[in-house]
Amino acid sequence: MEIIAAVSAGAGAPLTVRTLTLRAPRPDEVLVRVLACGICHTDLTARAAVPATMPIVLGHEGAGVVEAVGGDVAGVAVGDRVLLTYQSCGACPECAHGLPGYCAQWAVRNAGRFGADSPLSSESGPVVGAFFGQSSFASHVLTTPRNLVVVEPDLDPVRIAAFGCSVQTGAGVVAEVLAPDASSVLAIFGVGAVGLSALLAARALGVGTVVAVDLSPVRLALAAELGADLVLDGGTDDVAARIAALPGGGASHALDTTGAAPVLATALDSLTARGVLALVGLGSSPVPVDVAGLIGRGKTLRGSIEGDVDPKVFLPRLTEWYRRGLLPMDKLVREYPVHRINDAVADMVAGTVIKAVVTFP
Ligand SMILES: [Zn+2]
Ligand SMILES: [Zn+2]
Repeated sequence: MEIIAAVSAGAGAPLTVRTLTLRAPRPDEVLVRVLACGICHTDLTARAAVPATMPIVLGHEGAGVVEAVGGDVAGVAVGDRVLLTYQSCGACPECAHGLPGYCAQWAVRNAGRFGADSPLSSESGPVVGAFFGQSSFASHVLTTPRNLVVVEPDLDPVRIAAFGCSVQTGAGVVAEVLAPDASSVLAIFGVGAVGLSALLAARALGVGTVVAVDLSPVRLALAAELGADLVLDGGTDDVAARIAALPGGGASHALDTTGAAPVLATALDSLTARGVLALVGLGSSPVPVDVAGLIGRGKTLRGSIEGDVDPKVFLPRLTEWYRRGLLPMDKLVREYPVHRINDAVADMVAGTVIKAVVTFP
């Protein structure tokens, strides 16, 4: 079938909205008409790494409606509203333990499919598809029951599209990895879509004190509006000293969404003895670690992908929070019709939008 997709071809080139061909679903696949897809920083990272000779359709926060199901598919029906997330095998030990983010085949199943293996093609040759098992910067995608979650039909796809990556990452790392409580101080470094999702989850879970750190006054103002007890400007405030002055003498829990070495150093300095710093942001440079400081104060550095959650379990929890008003996504999301996807990308890069969501007619 012919579909509309935003194609990336080369790091600096604008995305082009083109007509592509999507093959028919195989017995284990589901055809989804995409209504909305969030743009995640991983899309921008992947775009920068893809050569111009290898056109690809990115997008991994799709939300849509099922249009067809293969003969072997159970539990998903035509007309179902679905959220899409990353792909996993379902058979390896980590998948069996409900931690599909650590699937043994994670990399190969999410990097996209190439050449004749791709479900996408164009008049000028193959196009890389099935990025994160979806490639949702497109009007239609082929996906599988593994990486979709059926949601209630009345939920606005524009508002909930980012649940499948950014929101589950931020909310999941707080709920499932750090698990702070009413006596905890949680410091969040970087309050973009992931950091603000962490903040909202912390408020939903009744965490005692939540500190937001960022360089953007606009983001800090939004963090305060969404319930941060203290907002600190990483450029002008003495962040570690301000956090150390809180009751308890520092952060019992911290989250870094930036991957930036100086930010990580400050986050580690902000921890109390036996404090835990979770890392979810991929930085571009190696980070020196103060091993003596970690040992002497019993601190923990903990990496996490996709919040350590099982999307089949956690996305329904997020939609319930959303319904209860605990995830006011309208304050994070800005909608762009697909023909304006380059404006959306530019706004993401400039940091003038928290969560850009592309929509399809
Ligand atoms: Zn697996
Ligand atoms: Zn993502």
